[in-house]
Amino acid sequence: MAYVIAEPCVATCDTACVKVCPVDCIHGPMKPEEIEFIPPEERPAKLRGLQLYIDPEACICCAACERECPVEAIFDEDDLPPAWEHYKEINARFFQR
Ligand code: SF4
Ligand code: SF4
Repeated sequence: MAYVIAEPCVATCDTACVKVCPVDCIHGPMKPEEIEFIPPEERPAKLRGLQLYIDPEACICCAACERECPVEAIFDEDDLPPAWEHYKEINARFFQR
């Protein structure tokens, strides 16, 4: 079992989840330090289509990230809303799982 990042993260990517993950298993196509450098108002354009992902093999299901996400993008994989169930596969695919 693992936690999964779903659609609300796309183009938001505020990286709050990365800072609290005890096993450093949240990653994306851009480094969090690079994202933090982009002003929030410029993120929708500069991060279009981008999100962060949780490595399902490293996640220890502590739920720390879920509480931190300001846009409620993170779910236990068993609690994903039906419309976002495919994000389980999308997260795993980023790590080629
Ligand atoms: S999942 Fe939430 S806290 Fe984590 S990067 Fe995406 S928007 Fe930010
Ligand atoms: S549930 Fe815990 S271990 Fe899994 S990604 Fe979130 S903070 Fe990291």
